[in-house]
Amino acid sequence: MNDTRHIVTDIGEIMWKCNLTVVLILVVCKAICDGRKDIQNDHKHWKADIDGGRLMNSVVKACPRVVTREEWGARPAKDRSDMATPVPFVILHHTDMPECFTFDDCCKMMRSIQDFHMDVRGWNDIAYSFLVGEDGLVYRGRGWDTVGSHAPWYNFRSLGISIMGNFTTKLPNQKAIEAVDEIINCAIVNNKLKSDYILYGHRQATPNRTCPGQALFDMIQTWPHWKPGNHFPPKQ
Ligand SMILES: [Zn+2]
Repeated sequence: MNDTRHIVTDIGEIMWKCNLTVVLILVVCKAICDGRKDIQNDHKHWKADIDGGRLMNSVVKACPRVVTREEWGARPAKDRSDMATPVPFVILHHTDMPECFTFDDCCKMMRSIQDFHMDVRGWNDIAYSFLVGEDGLVYRGRGWDTVGSHAPWYNFRSLGISIMGNFTTKLPNQKAIEAVDEIINCAIVNNKLKSDYILYGHRQATPNRTCPGQALFDMIQTWPHWKPGNHFPPKQ
């Protein structure tokens, strides 16, 4: 009787140990899987940083999604120069070309603008740092750290942001305006733009321009960082 009890107790103990082992294995597996997920997430962030313009992992979340050059089908730049950041100016433009309201149309428009700037104007790349579509997305032009070709005297110390379309008699939609706001905030948070930056419309920075279109120019004059007057060549 005692022997039988012992056997039963032993079997019970063995089963308990087996269960414990299974639980331990499951815990270890879960830990490994979670670790993998973290690595993958980190990698995703890292890739977004490089593609979106070399931002730090920890703050990339503060930014809107930036459509990468790969995504919109950019040609490689012919050449580039480093731009020191944070820069003190934002120069706002319109492209004076058709508007776009969908991802596919905006990607196509990005390629047309880049072709025009590289093949007709003879520049190294699309002129602006970032462009914005009325699909509400930000498209990477030259990015944060590259000198632009959008406004002489300011190219090496400004973010050139251009809304795709002509805004002489009408305004861009709310989505596009919000995207401009988001990319500016992202630039400040990531120390690419000074927090006390000055905003000019292109016509204030370069003589004989109507950019960014009268309707849009009227609107940006209500934005907090806009400063009046013409500033070519800049005093500072
Ligand atoms: Zn312009």
